[in-house]
Amino acid sequence: MREARLPRPWVLGLGAACLVGAACLAAFAWKPAVLAAMMAEFRSHQTPSALAFPEGLNVVLIGTGSPMGDKARVGACLAVVAGKHTFIVDAGEGANRNIQLARLPTKPDALLLTHFHSDHIASLGDIALGHWSRNRSTDPLLVIGPAGVESVVRGFNEAYSLDDGYRVEHHGADWMPPSGAGSVARTVELGLEPDASAVVYNEDGLRVTMFRVDHGPVKPAVGYRFDYRGRSVAMSGDTAYTESIVKNARGVDILLNEALSGPMVSVIEAYAANPSTAKIAHDIPGYHSSPEDAARMAAGAGAGMLALYHIIPPTASPLLYPIFLGDAGRFFHRQISLGADGMMFSLAPDSKRVRQTRRF
Ligand SMILES: [Zn+2]
Ligand SMILES: [Zn+2]
Repeated sequence: MREARLPRPWVLGLGAACLVGAACLAAFAWKPAVLAAMMAEFRSHQTPSALAFPEGLNVVLIGTGSPMGDKARVGACLAVVAGKHTFIVDAGEGANRNIQLARLPTKPDALLLTHFHSDHIASLGDIALGHWSRNRSTDPLLVIGPAGVESVVRGFNEAYSLDDGYRVEHHGADWMPPSGAGSVARTVELGLEPDASAVVYNEDGLRVTMFRVDHGPVKPAVGYRFDYRGRSVAMSGDTAYTESIVKNARGVDILLNEALSGPMVSVIEAYAANPSTAKIAHDIPGYHSSPEDAARMAAGAGAGMLALYHIIPPTASPLLYPIFLGDAGRFFHRQISLGADGMMFSLAPDSKRVRQTRRF
């Protein structure tokens, strides 16, 4: 029998040299590869994005969460892109980060606020800063809202005033024109009726209507409706069931409505270790819509479909969706989508089609 022979020393040496060489190559080569991947990713967010939106009315769910910690959803924020016009509705926590991922046209016509709960205004300062810094804008961000919007805008402008100064000093007034810093408020006064409405924008075939909703004791609280080229969507802001939505969202292609699952929130109330958490969980269902409420409003309005956002409590797993939706399907027999950050609905002009895609 032949003895197994060990490799000669020079073979071992050559093998070791090859291994060291490969390790060195990997150590130096990974950086350009990673940088190239980063650049591709960054470039994908620099696309002249307005061109990338389909013709017609587009709604991007920028943030579909609530103030409760949620890995999957940032705070409430929706964006509407119609032709050359872009509107952002609400500015929940984290919204500005997702706005960049959504590759929205960089200069929105306005930010529309539904009410002044912290979870709807938290990102106002950052959205205004983005509007200024990304566009060399000489005009501040226009913020439209019901009575009270001036005090919110004034506060954010004050809070960001030091930062504004740093930016001008660091980058120069050519790139950060001082007149473009911050935001400017436009108040829309609504009538006293519970279903009062007012047109806040009407240009190039795009009409935006503000209408009152019921989020008492938070007053005023409003929703918005967008009509463009034969298509329409309405968004509720925060509200309990109200006939105002049934009336003001009449015939829309999509009703985007907030939603709180009572049975799921009652579990939080029952098991919360912190009594303050239990108290808040006890109080909040009264001024929000259950999925069943949202379904009843969508049915009453004759909406083409219902999309839920401002999801309370956090509902990360699709396995929980049927529990969250409860009996909503009994009240509204058309499509119900449980919204997720990055979801986009595109409504081609003068048709009935709704195309649901992911924007990010
Ligand atoms: Zn609220
Ligand atoms: Zn809210």
